[in-house]
Amino acid sequence: MAKKRRETQNIPPHKHCKECGVSISPDKTFCSKRCESAYEKRIKKQRRMNYIFLAMMFVLLLIISFTQSIK
Ligand SMILES: [Zn+2]
Repeated sequence: MAKKRRETQNIPPHKHCKECGVSISPDKTFCSKRCESAYEKRIKKQRRMNYIFLAMMFVLLLIISFTQSIK
C-alpha cells in the first residue's frame, strides 16, 4: 500500500483522454476535437441502443401480460 501511494505522488496531475486514453492536461477532457466528436457520437449511439432495448423490453412485458390475461 505504501509503495502504491509513493508512485501516485510522483505522477504530475494529469487526465486521460476519454476516447483514446492519451495523457492530457487536467483542464481538458479530450486530446483533440476529433476525439471529442468521436466520443459524443459513440455515447449518442449507445444511448439510442439503450432506448431501443428498453422499448423492446416494454413491448415484451406487454405481450407477456396480454397472453397471461387471456388464460
Ligand atoms: Zn484522444
